[in-house]
Amino acid sequence: MDPKLLKPFTYEVFPTEGLVAYFSMEIAINPVMPTYSGGLGVLAGDTLRSAADLGVPLVAFSLLHRKGYFEQHLDTNGMQREDVQTWNPADFCVEEPARITVSIEDRTVTVRCWRYELVGRYGHVVPIYLLDTDVDGNSGWDRGLTDHLYGGDTNYRLQQEIVLGMGGARMANALGHRINVYHMNEGHAALLTLALLESQLGGGPLGAATDTDIEQVRNKCVFTTHTPVPAGHDRFSTEQTIRILGGDRTARLERLGCFRDDMLNMTLLALRFSRYANGVAMQHGKVSREMFPEFAIDSITNGVHAPTWTSEPVQKMLDEHIPAWRRDNLYVRNAIDLPEKDILKAHAQAKDSLLAEVAARTGLVLNPNVLTLGFARRVATYKRATLLFTDPERLVEIATAAGGLQIIYAGKAHPQDEPGKALIQKVIEDAAKFSNGILRIVYLENYDWKLGAMLTAGVDVWVNTPRRPYEASGTSGMKAALNGVPSLSILDGWWIEGCVEGVTGWAIEDGADDNEEATSLYKKLETAVVPLYLETPGKWARLMRNTLAFNGSYFNTNRMVKQYTRNAYYPVTLIEQAKVQEATFAD
Ligand SMILES: *Cc1c(COP(=O)(O)O)cnc(C)c1O
Repeated sequence: MDPKLLKPFTYEVFPTEGLVAYFSMEIAINPVMPTYSGGLGVLAGDTLRSAADLGVPLVAFSLLHRKGYFEQHLDTNGMQREDVQTWNPADFCVEEPARITVSIEDRTVTVRCWRYELVGRYGHVVPIYLLDTDVDGNSGWDRGLTDHLYGGDTNYRLQQEIVLGMGGARMANALGHRINVYHMNEGHAALLTLALLESQLGGGPLGAATDTDIEQVRNKCVFTTHTPVPAGHDRFSTEQTIRILGGDRTARLERLGCFRDDMLNMTLLALRFSRYANGVAMQHGKVSREMFPEFAIDSITNGVHAPTWTSEPVQKMLDEHIPAWRRDNLYVRNAIDLPEKDILKAHAQAKDSLLAEVAARTGLVLNPNVLTLGFARRVATYKRATLLFTDPERLVEIATAAGGLQIIYAGKAHPQDEPGKALIQKVIEDAAKFSNGILRIVYLENYDWKLGAMLTAGVDVWVNTPRRPYEASGTSGMKAALNGVPSLSILDGWWIEGCVEGVTGWAIEDGADDNEEATSLYKKLETAVVPLYLETPGKWARLMRNTLAFNGSYFNTNRMVKQYTRNAYYPVTLIEQAKVQEATFAD
């Protein structure tokens, strides 16, 4: 490991002036604003909520996404229909008078922004600026550049990334903010480094940039990668890059080694221009270092914003027994001492709310006394939504032995992901085929923030079956943990850190193929989950309590933002930083 490309940079003390600028293509800001699609956006929103709670001087930039991601409808055959989610920014945000421009292809595009004020627990405000190209004077095409989150083709995407990265960096300046640190949440915002370099050169030719100029930019940038496989990284062809970004910039980025396999690789670009980079779980940091061995990539494990993802009844219970939990989530560790009956009661209430929601949406009345599994996430093939149906007869046997089994599914497939859409159909088909009085399976439409919160709080066990090592972190199991709900999951992403077998949940063991892993899943259900649920309510209560105490107290963004602040944004001293690197990079 040669960490020379990520040079530690230090702040002797917390700076009294200036801000961190956080950039993300999606941010789940408010449940009724369709500015996110899934895990990345929820993480960004939770990060900002915790930054606001902790009083971290920070501002954020994203795109407005005037037409949202999409609202999912499923017909009886499980065919997904996608409806536009329109919303009115003026209902939530205030338009800023500032205007900046970016150049895209041979056009000059004007950008404005809308300010949303995210208020923390003690009143600290984190402003979120949503960039918008729907401005008079822009062409019809350009006015639509900030309409669709992850819509269109790669040409549209690269143009959006110019608006986010270059537009966002210039907008921060136009708004009069002094920025100490630029944090790129995933590679989508990596072009901000180019805007900083151009600003450093005062408009001079990029070819004139010296090592010192580049070092100046690097000293301001930190980067979080979220992608564990090469194909997942954002990439653009040389032809596209020359056409959309321009020949001069493309040549410069090529010379700086930001191309891999003849493609502009946004992860490489972000890494080249960052003084600090991290993956989102310990394992993901390791996988990222293997993909990009020339960089020292640290790990900061993801979290979730505790009050956002903890059900009302669990919040009430914590307020009663551990009031300090809201100020500092570490105190959730003391849940280890909660009365067993209280946690069972709080969970029963959350389960009732979920089952009432299922009944209202589908007419299906589920039984609150029956073991209920939850599986909800973006439907990508690697998440293997149908693994539970590998051997339907065995599943029915398990359900019979358990005196009934209920499985609640939800999840959207990206509009262009045909295999993902086919998986939803298969789950719905299998659900109809195998559901009987004993095994009941339901697929809920339009998985989003509110439904996610209900599911993770209300089911008894949260199931996750990704194919290793595709799950960089995963966060829905963390939401479950904050509600005392154990996970039954493949040992990938965060679960490698969170799983204490039989204490916080169970691991599905690695197998040579899907069949072997399905067999392990069935075996764990049969021999561990079902007997504990049926026979020993006291032990189940202790399992829930352990889950909340051990995993709820750690896998939250209160802890995570503190780590970002001291490891990434404002590292304490050079010497300590070097030591931290040595320790965390020892694989
Ligand atoms: C938490 C959340 C996710 C991310 O969950 P994973 O475990 O990472 O799949 C995705 N979508 C919604 C709506 C969520 O609330």
